[in-house]
Amino acid sequence: MSKIVMWFRKDLRLDDNTAFSHLLKQSKETDEVMCIFQLNPSQFIKKSYNHDAFFLSVQTFYKELRKRQIPLHFLYGDPEENFTALKETFDDWDAVYFNKDERGFGRVRDQKLADFFEQHQIQIHAYQDSHLHGVEEITKPTGESYKVFTPYYKQWQLRSKRPYKKQQVIERIFPEIGHPLFDEGKKQFNEIIKQIKLPFDYECGETVAEDYLKKFITNGLHEYQSKRDYPLADQTSKLSRFLRTGELSIRKVWHAIQAEPESTGRQTFISELCWRDFYNMIYFNHPKQKDQEIKEQYRELQWHYDEQLFEKWREGKTGYPIVDAGMRQLNQTGWMHNRLRMIVASFLTKDLMIDWRMGERYFQEKLIDYDSASNIGGWQWAASTGTDAVPYFRIFNPTTQGEKFDPTGAFIRMYLPELNDLPNEYIHCPSKMSKKVQESLGFYLGDHYPKPMVDHQKIRPEILAFFKNS
Ligand code: FAD
Repeated sequence: MSKIVMWFRKDLRLDDNTAFSHLLKQSKETDEVMCIFQLNPSQFIKKSYNHDAFFLSVQTFYKELRKRQIPLHFLYGDPEENFTALKETFDDWDAVYFNKDERGFGRVRDQKLADFFEQHQIQIHAYQDSHLHGVEEITKPTGESYKVFTPYYKQWQLRSKRPYKKQQVIERIFPEIGHPLFDEGKKQFNEIIKQIKLPFDYECGETVAEDYLKKFITNGLHEYQSKRDYPLADQTSKLSRFLRTGELSIRKVWHAIQAEPESTGRQTFISELCWRDFYNMIYFNHPKQKDQEIKEQYRELQWHYDEQLFEKWREGKTGYPIVDAGMRQLNQTGWMHNRLRMIVASFLTKDLMIDWRMGERYFQEKLIDYDSASNIGGWQWAASTGTDAVPYFRIFNPTTQGEKFDPTGAFIRMYLPELNDLPNEYIHCPSKMSKKVQESLGFYLGDHYPKPMVDHQKIRPEILAFFKNS
């Protein structure tokens, strides 16, 4: 008999969990399996509440496991110290199973721990589980990695995807293992949960994730192409947060979509899943991208760091309604529609010329679907410093974006009730209202809603010069 650790991370499900199903297949009935969740305090972002929603997903997973008589043991502290202490107690521990983190913080941690496991003769069973294709699977015929999305996507489409394997009934006994480390881990976990205060409801768990998938396929998939850009339509899948926590298997999503008839909506949705893999691969190949521009020629740009302007952007008080509605959606719900993410990121990096890293970190704190690869990818795309082939003169006009994607202003009114009574002709540009109109409405710009913090039309040449002179 030996002891085996199943280390759960961003894979909070039993269904189609690659590492867990391999463990069940490869181990003996008599082996003792310890299921573990490791809490590393250096990863917590203390000032944010939205981001911590992740731990509510962990809590739900813990309860789901309990119902199946599978205890989840918590560890709290530095991972290497935790595992050292564990090995000192359980010298019959000889294998660890987990799903790999292929980039970012998790990748560095895994590399460090790989040495530790090897030193202690603990066999590592690590699997690619979180993406349809891992970071090294799709390469050019020369073996080089892709830098641009379109050729990557062409290759990606040609490659077959792994099957989805529904979790069968588990006929195994998972013992509850007593240890002061686990007691401390559970105590700390309870503390974390107690401190979470979300300004919105947060439903989570495998069953909820599956419901979202089913609802999207029935109501949104085939119209995805025509409706996905309109925040009011709210027709995107909202699956990002379940993919982030691993409450939903990406292979389950893929095969459910494959079972549907062909449509433009279905095809566009598939390309979005590819963006997720693409950015994951890019992060793997550019490990410094959280702090450093991918395009070398933009590493010396003189970004601005004006705290007051940044605060107005954060709070949704820029004077540009579509930007402000997006930011308030983020602050109030922990999620923001993709079109709005592009608009607000463009506004921060181009109109305000504020360092994209500040925006990236703010999103990290606030997004419940925060995924480092997609977020950094999205921010570097908006700042024109990333892999995108379109040059820096793509600058979103916040007024025309609003007119195009929220034509009646109904979405803006949802998040900016102070603009509720504005006639449609002014909803995207309240600063166009003359004094007389303001008086007739009893609405005064500067009092009831901020004046635009910059004049987009006038600032455009400055932005172009900012990039050109770099
Ligand atoms: P849907 O439109 O239903 O798309 C389906 C799935 O495809 C998403 O759940 C997501 O997994 C994937 N996807 C869609 N668009 C993208 C994209 N552009 N890049 C990578 N994957 C994509 N996505 C995150 O998951 N986490 C982030 O932290 C994140 N930050 C972003 C920051 C910026 C500045 C921008 C422009 C985009 C960011 N995105 C991020 C991508 C995208 O906005 C979200 O994935 C999407 O809005 C999530 O909603 P949904 O699940 O309804 O998406």
